Formats: sequence, C-alpha cells, structure tokens
Amino acid sequence: MPNYTVEAVVLKRSDFGEKDRLLTLLSPSHGKIRAIAKGVRRPGSRQAGHLELFAHAKVYLAEGRNLDIITQAETLASHHLIRTDLGMLSLAYYIAELGDALSVEDEKNYPLFSLVKSAFSQIGGSVDHSSLITWFEMTLLDIIGYRPDLEHCAVCATPLGISAGICRDIGGLVCCNCTPHGGHLVSLSGQSMQGLRGVQLSSTWTASADSEAVREEMRLVARHFVTHVMQRELRAEQFMWNVQKLQAIPV
Ligand SMILES: [Zn+2]
Repeated sequence: MPNYTVEAVVLKRSDFGEKDRLLTLLSPSHGKIRAIAKGVRRPGSRQAGHLELFAHAKVYLAEGRNLDIITQAETLASHHLIRTDLGMLSLAYYIAELGDALSVEDEKNYPLFSLVKSAFSQIGGSVDHSSLITWFEMTLLDIIGYRPDLEHCAVCATPLGISAGICRDIGGLVCCNCTPHGGHLVSLSGQSMQGLRGVQLSSTWTASADSEAVREEMRLVARHFVTHVMQRELRAEQFMWNVQKLQAIPV
C-alpha cells in the first residue's frame, strides 16, 4: 500500500462506521482527496484534534482500494476561531462547499488550495466578510477558468467604462442598451465597477470599498457570476444568508 504525505485543508467531514470519520481534503499536489481517518472518534484518539473542520494540516496517507487511509496528521493552523462564531462558521462552510464543488480528485491545483487556505485564515481576522466573499469568489472564478469580463457588454461587446448592470438571465455584465425584453436590469455604481476591477487585478487579499452599500453591491455581482457558473444554489449559501439575517436583528 503506497504511502504519501500532503499539506491540506479539511473541507468536509462526517462520521463513518462506529469509530471512523470520512474526510474531504483539498491539497495542492493531489487536488481533492476523500479519505478515512480510522478510530478518530475513539476517546483519547491522538489524531482527532489534528483533523478539525477547516484546519490546515500535514496529512500522511496510505493508498486504499476505494478510499485512502489517513495514518497520521499534524495541525499547521487549526483556525479554531471559526468554530466559535456562527457568522464565521457559515462563511467557512460556504467557502468549503464551493471549494469542494469546484475541485477535482487527483489533479494538482496549487492556486485553488492557496485561495481556500488563505480565505480560512482571513475569516478569523478583522476583515469585512462581504469583501472577503467577493474577493474569494472573483479569484475562484479566475482560477477555474471563468474570469468574468468586466470590460465589455456580454451581449453586444461594447466597452463598458464605468456604466454597467446585471440581468438575471445573462451571466456577464450588460450595457444599458442590452436589457432583454421584459428583463430587469440592476444598474451598478461606478464605485462598484472600479472596486470589482481592483479585486480582479489584485493577486492577494486587499480590503475593498469603504462604503457598505458598495461592498454589498460588489458582493451581489460576484454572486451573480458564481450562480451562473454553478447552475445551482449551494446548501451553505442559504445557511450563510439565514445567519446574516439573524445577526442583523437587534437583540
Ligand atoms: Zn450591450
């Protein structure tokens, strides 16, 4: 049974059998890995604490017939703060579900691993979560080959300048002349357009717009692009919105 070692983040985990756990890992060298951690639910298991959800770890594996077996793990960053707050937790679930949906087994992808790892480590910091999601989604689309065109109308290819909008049925941005008959165009502010272009040009996390309205508008656009690529709603997305609505209610 050949052994191998990877650096990975834990995207998903569930109970398996009576004492084991099934984990979905994202690694730079092997892409997505589904593996069994044997005996980790036994009281006193030494591995248990090293394979927390969203943790960044060094993982030692043995190739199995169907699923690989985790033989040892060492935590590099536990990201424990995420698990102490419902808002952070819902955001991390969303990032993990998108990372899971868009990664491939046995296919190395360092940029995707690096993006997810970086997003998990930013969640616990003092970052604005709307901006973090926008940055994550825009960068993710770029990595998987769906970089949104922010410069041209998706219908007539006219250069957009700082005036554009989004329409439910069209995946890209549209100019004001191209609203489909009966369609509803959401016009975007020049600040949002500039902010989105700034995010697309930046290779690392940078805090975006000062105005909350602009940040929310940018997030709406990034979500619009992701929805068109995914063609389905993610379970964690609804959870994230519900938590945000709940947290917006004054206590
Ligand atoms: Zn147009």
